[in-house]
This record gives sequence, structure tokens and C-alpha cells, in this order.
Amino acid sequence: MAQTAARTPSRTKSAKRSARGPKYVYFFANGKAEGSSALRHLLGGKGCELAEMTNLGVPVPPGFTITTRAWAAYNAAGRKHPPGLWSEVERNLSRLEGVAGSRLGDAERPLLVSVRSGARASMPGMMDTVLNLGLNDRSVEGLARWTRNERFAWDCYRRFITIFGAVVLGIERRAFDELLERVKAKAGAKTDADVPAPALRELVAESKRLVQARTGQPFPQEPKEQLRLAINAVFDSWFAKKAVDYRRIHRLSDDWGTAVSVMAMVFGNLGDSSGTGVCFSRDPSSGEKRFFGEFLVNAQGEDVVAGIRTPEPLESLEHRMPKVYRQLTAIKDKLERHYRDMQDIEFTVQEGRLCILQTRSGKRTGAAAVRIAVEMVKEGLFDEKPLKPAARREKARQTALLRVEPASLHQLLVKTVDPEAKYTAIARGLPATPAAAVGKVVFDPEKAVEMALREEPVILVRAETSPEDVAGMHAAQGVLTSRGGLTSHAAVVARGWGKCCVVGAGDVVVDEENHLFRAGRSVVREGQVITLNGATGEVILGTLPLVPPTLSAEFKELLGWAQALATTKVRANADTPADAAKAREFEAVGIGLVRTEHMFFGDQRIPIVRDMIMAKEEQDRRKAVDRLLPFQREDFIGIFTAMAPYPVTIRLLDPPLHEFLPKYKEVLEEYTRLDALGINPARHQELGAIKARLEALIEANPMLGHRGCRLGITFPEVYEMQVRAIMEAACEVARRGITVEPEIMIPLTGTVAEMKLTRDMTMRAAQQVLTETGVKVHYSVGTMIEVPRAALVADKIAEHAEFFSFGTNDLTQMTFGYSRDDIGKFLPFYLEKKLLPADPFAVLDQEGVGELIRIGIERGRKTQRHLKVGICGEHGGDPSSVEFCHRVGMDYVSCSPFMVPIAWLAAAQAEIKEPRRAAGGKRHA
Ligand code: ADP
Ligand code: MG
Ligand code: MG
Repeated sequence: MAQTAARTPSRTKSAKRSARGPKYVYFFANGKAEGSSALRHLLGGKGCELAEMTNLGVPVPPGFTITTRAWAAYNAAGRKHPPGLWSEVERNLSRLEGVAGSRLGDAERPLLVSVRSGARASMPGMMDTVLNLGLNDRSVEGLARWTRNERFAWDCYRRFITIFGAVVLGIERRAFDELLERVKAKAGAKTDADVPAPALRELVAESKRLVQARTGQPFPQEPKEQLRLAINAVFDSWFAKKAVDYRRIHRLSDDWGTAVSVMAMVFGNLGDSSGTGVCFSRDPSSGEKRFFGEFLVNAQGEDVVAGIRTPEPLESLEHRMPKVYRQLTAIKDKLERHYRDMQDIEFTVQEGRLCILQTRSGKRTGAAAVRIAVEMVKEGLFDEKPLKPAARREKARQTALLRVEPASLHQLLVKTVDPEAKYTAIARGLPATPAAAVGKVVFDPEKAVEMALREEPVILVRAETSPEDVAGMHAAQGVLTSRGGLTSHAAVVARGWGKCCVVGAGDVVVDEENHLFRAGRSVVREGQVITLNGATGEVILGTLPLVPPTLSAEFKELLGWAQALATTKVRANADTPADAAKAREFEAVGIGLVRTEHMFFGDQRIPIVRDMIMAKEEQDRRKAVDRLLPFQREDFIGIFTAMAPYPVTIRLLDPPLHEFLPKYKEVLEEYTRLDALGINPARHQELGAIKARLEALIEANPMLGHRGCRLGITFPEVYEMQVRAIMEAACEVARRGITVEPEIMIPLTGTVAEMKLTRDMTMRAAQQVLTETGVKVHYSVGTMIEVPRAALVADKIAEHAEFFSFGTNDLTQMTFGYSRDDIGKFLPFYLEKKLLPADPFAVLDQEGVGELIRIGIERGRKTQRHLKVGICGEHGGDPSSVEFCHRVGMDYVSCSPFMVPIAWLAAAQAEIKEPRRAAGGKRHA
């Protein structure tokens, strides 16, 4: 993408220019353009590549591009042209007329132009383009005579009035389409192309009447007036609702604005030796290296996208116009080599003459992105010749790694709906994970577990979920909720498992009592089969075919390159041996977080956990705790074995105890009922005790309450048991000759005293096991940093901790003071009003929360230069957050197993952008 230096205006010219104000218009014609790819920010993607292609000698119709700077000035002035803009446009128009040998609006040989939008980032179809501008009642006759094709001329005119009417005059397109349909029916024409000239003439007259009726003015006849209005309308289309929405979804800036390219029309609608099409230099869906595209004979650009006629595959161009096909093939090769990327190319053929109208990097699936990047390395497309072979190979791999959007790998790591499947959805929610699932509808989590045991696939449908539902959620193939956002409990938990999940489907009304849900006019009963498309948020009746994820050879290869390069390592959050095995499969090099409480929810365990909580005396509590120990030990043996030889970080009990008891409301209801009926005294008494305990446990702010190390300090026997289970498991595994390295993590530390006390307790319990077993196991004790205060006193905490792990979920919650469970009430509003750039629970807030992390690391390492630091919040799998973790010097990120490849890629990209390897220093994994 070089080529710039020679084309930028010389210094004297630009000096003159600055006296007159900035240059607003860049001209391109006949192999020479004023701009190039390097001016993307000024000329937009479309405009800069039109210039670049012109310079490359690719056949592009002549024209000029008005810059985004002109847009900015226009916009700042309240939608008024800045001084000098219009005269510059007029000068360039004359130049264009000179090159084209025809004049805009001429009665004999009229020049027609297109007026095209184009931002620096591709926003396909989001903004407007006007075609065939320059036609009026006079020039249309000239065009007919000149081309000796009356039908063509009137077809262009009616198209122009339609587009201009819709884009510039704001008349809905449908009104024009209805006129066309009527004329078609009257003329007995099957397709648009069959409508004869006189009927088109009549259509133009009617369209003009429509414009007059709607605007109270005749259709503008003055070509320069048409041009001015069209340019303004394209400028304004930057703020069209769909464009604004698109930018919000893709996190693009509203300040960039659009450039406007004005260029001579070429006509694909001049008969059977003309046509228009779109092609890709490789298959955008699979990435296969094959020339792929679609073509329409005797048609104009917009017809291909509009889907009015079904286009033919590119092969038919090969048969119809072999010479054009060969030329197009050569051009796509040239463009792909030049841009070193897969290209998406628009072309038009006018009476056997090929013109290229646009090229850009083609959008592609995750699978295609990976395959294309890896194959291009092999083809030597990324080779930089002056480099020595080893360096050249390294550089090419880096280029490939940078080419794949980490988030696009999501699609590769889950089952998805077969792209060929046709369906209509009955409801739509928020797509929480890209996976798809098919199963029988179930409303009760316990029933979900039951059915799953019988190997019946189920979809759990709830208004919303809570930690109690976890077993049911885990058993289900997919989860559907009618409430909650992308950070709701259901979404976060499901994402962690890579499980299909659609949340906040407002149309879905769950009627648990009658075992059914309604969605619009559909009633879906328990046991009925539905499909959830987690990629789109759609809910579909019946079974759709799903396709499983496959780690292709290319994917494995790319992952290998990423791993070799990344200095920030990737671990997984895993709570079970199965999760740990999955994480290994995806190349995790350790576990950054085992949440021990997830093990408490199993069928055999939860009654013991409840006994433990219900115990009044320490003695009783100890008894319950001792019964839990063997379960915990078994789990840890499984996890250590699955993750060997890598380290495993285990967090001691964290959540408030009430989460393990039945819901208060339900207990109260049953209790009151039994009370009123005076029956079942044993149950009544039991419920009474639970009720009393729950009442004692009720907290106004449980997330800020009796949890984390505060539990461990007040009920030391619980932590002691957990430490014992960890160490006994470690010794057992070590005895089997397996490398094991437990890292015991204290949650929610806020003060040095808490850290010191829990660490002393932990070491005492651990030491005891080591003495008893006589096995040597290396272990360490560290803490989660999730209370802001802990980050601030990190230097002192580091005196008693061997590692830090930033628990960014709680840290975000406490830094913002936003309850994670309630953020759904205001977050959508905040995002819409741009009070927040993104959901801070999904994308790390680098400015605030990130600053605490920076401070925490800096102060911690002041005390211990080689303090091991990682992150274990949801953010560990988010690419921009991973980059941040790399920049602040973390040793690793930890995320759910299914995010591990994404995190590796993001970590490799971070290393390429900001190399740390050279900086040296000891690094842990
Ligand atoms: P979008 O960004 O929505 O694709 P474009 O500006 O690319 O809009 O234009 C819409 C359609 O009109 C495309 O198919 C394009 O190829 C076609 N088109 C644009 N300019 C011309 C032109 N000068 N001659 C012929 N077709 C054109
Ligand atoms: Mg286009
Ligand atoms: Mg936490």
C-alpha cells in the first residue's frame, strides 16, 4: 500500500493550498490519481481504493472524491458547504467532463455520474448512493439518440428518479416500486428487463408526478442542482438510523464522517454484452482458494444486491464473455497480491468492456479468516523479500496472526446452525453465546437434570436463572430466558461453558404453572422440541440441523504460532476435571481459577453443605465439613491430573452462604401452607429451622456482605477443610508421579490483616498435611485482588502473598458501584446515550478499573519484583482486555476453556504490537 509519496501535492502547491483552505476534492482518471490507499481517513475506503486502483492501472471510471474533512466542515456548519467546496467540485466536474468527453446534462452526449458514500471503515449498505445522476427530460432524449437505445435511456431515467426520490427527497422506495409493478403488469412483462421503452417513458411520467405530489415541487431538472442535493444527501446519510446503529454495534466513531465519490457511470444495462457483478478472490465462507462470485446480465449495480433477479454464478460469465472473465481473473489476482488480502470486488461490463467499481478486504467467516491467513503464509504472499529466511518466516506468521479477528474464532468453537438451513423464528432475544442447540423444552431445572440423565437433550426455559439453577443449566443443551441482558447470570454462566444461550427474549412469556411459554401467536408446551440459534438470538420451533466445531489443521497451526509468540500466557477457568481436559485440548497452560463452590451443588453434596450452614455449634459444623472433604479431594485429584504438569489456582469458598440454601420465598410459602393446614409436623419443623437460618443470613447487600475471606475468617473450619482437601489431593497425585503445583487463592482480601491471617491459617493446614503424608509438594498462597482497597495497599499485601489474580468481575462491580445483577436496568440506556462506551463487565474499563490494576501490579512488584500476576474475571477472554493485561505486564490471563484460543490469538497480537520478549525479565505461566 505504498505509492503515496509521488502522488501527494508538492510542497509549494500545498503551501498555496493552505492559504486558500484545505484541499477538499481528489481527482482520479486514466491511470493517475491524486489520492491513494494511504488516505483512507480522508477519502474513505471506497474513494481511497478507487484512487489506488487507478494508479495500479486497473480500469476504473474517472471521477473525484470529496473528503471527510469537507463532511466535517459541512456538518460543523449545520449542514452547510464550507467556503470553497462547491467551486472545487465544479472545477473537478469540468475536469471529469473533459476526460469523459461529455457534459453533465448535455442534450447530445450527456455525462451521467454516480454519487457514492464511503467511510474509512466499511459499512456495507448502511449509507446511500445515487446512480445515473445528470438525467433530465432533455438529456434522456440525447442519451437515447447517442446510444441508439431508447429503452436503455428511459430505464436509466426511471432508476435515477427512484433513487434520487428515495435518497435525496425522502420518498419511500416502495411507492416507486409499486408504480413499476403496475407498469410491468400492464405491459405483461415478466422481469424489469422486459418492460418496453414506451412503458418506461410512461413510468417516468408517473414517477415525476409522484415526486410533485409528495414534495410540492417538480423533479429537479438542473443537473448541477441534482449533484449538489445528492452530495448533501450522501453526507447526511452518515446519520441515517441504520448507519448510527451499525456504528454502535461495531464500536465505530461517529466523528469520522463519510467521503463522497462522484464518478462517471458505466452501464451494465446496455444489452446482453453488458452486466454487473460482485466477486471474491477466495471463498468468503470456507476460505478455499477459488474465484467466487455472482453476475447479472443486462443489469445495473444495485440489482445484484437488491435481489430482484437471481444472479448467475461467475462461471456463467466465463461462458458468456470468456475474454472479460480472463481479464477479471487477472485483475483479482493483481489486487489480492497488491493488498495481500482476500478482496471483495464490484465490477460492471459495458458492451464487453470491463470496469472495476470497488475493491475492499472481503468480510469472511472465522473459519475463512483462519484458512486464508495460514494459506497466504504458505503461498508466500506475506513475504517481505529483503528479510533473511528465518526473519521473513517470522514476519509472515505475524502478518497472518494480525489478520484474524480474535472474536471471529467464537464461531469456530461451538456447534452452529447449518448455514444452509431455512427457517422462520418465533421469537428473538439477545445472542449470549454463538452456539446453537436443539432440545425439548423444560421449565424446571431439576427436571432438566433428570431428562439429561436419560440422555434426552433439553432446552431450559426460565424467566431468568439463579445460581440454584446451575445444575439444570449444565444438564441442558441450551438456555433461554425472557429477562436479563448479556451479563445476566444465565449469559455469564453459559458463556463460561460455551453453551448455547439466548437471554432477554422479551416476546417469550413463561407460564411455569401450565408448563408452557408463549411467543407471539405460538404456544410451546413442555416436551416440545425447539432450536436456539445463539449466534442470532433466534428461537425456532422444531429441529434444525447443527454442525459441530472442528479444529481444522489450519486453526491448529495458527494457534501454535500464537502460542510460540505470546509472552502473556493463557490459562483457563475450570471447575471440573472435564472442564480442565477441555481447556488442555484448547492449549491452556494452567488453570487460573477453580471455583470450589461449584462443586458444592452436586446432588450428594448440597445436603451436606446445607447441614454445614444450618449447624448452630462449631462442632456440628465441623462434622458436616468433614463429610465434604472426600468429595473435594476427589475433584481436586481429577483436576490436577487433567491439568498436569501445569499450575492450578484454587479459590477458597467465596459466595455468601444463602446461595446454597433454598429460596426464602419458596420456604416461606411452604411453611405458611403447612402452618395453616396444621399437617406434616416434621417437615414444618424442618422448614421453620431453614426459615430462621435464612432470616439470619439475609443481608441488604449480599455481594458486599459476609462472603469471601470474611467467611473463611469467621468459619475457619471451612477453609481448613478445603486446604486439607487440596493438599491431600496434591500429595496423592504427586505420589502417582504426576507434576502438581497448587496455588491456593484467598478471595476478596481488602486489608493486610485479612491476608496475613488467612495465609497463616492456610500454611498451617497445608504444612500439617505435608507432615502427615511425608510427600513433597510445592504450593503457594496468594490472593484475588477484587476490592479496590487491596489494589491500593498491594505493596503491603504482597508481603504475604505469592501471587495476585485480578478478579475483575468484583473489581468492576466495586469500582463503579454497579451491581452486576441489576445493571440491566440502566445499561442499555447508558450505552445508547454513550454514557459508557461498552458494558464494563464484558470489556474491561481500562481508564478506571484498569488504573487500579496498574497500581496494584506496580505496588505489588515494588515489594516482590517477580510477583506472579494474572486475571481471572470474565475479561480474560475479551481481546481488547487481553491486550491491556499484556501491556500492564501480567504473566497470564485466565478465561473459560472455549475462549482459550481467542485469548492466545489476542495475546500474540498484543505481543506483536508491543513486544515484551525483548524487554526480558523472568516470566511465570
Ligand atoms: P454500497 O456502498 O452500498 O455498495 P456503492 O457506492 O458501491 O454502494 O454503489 C451501489 C451500486 O452501484 C454498486 O453495485 C456499484 O457497483 C454501483 N455503482 C456505483 N457507481 C457506479 C458507476 N459509476 N457505474 C456503474 N455502477 C456503479
Ligand atoms: Mg459497493
Ligand atoms: Mg469475586
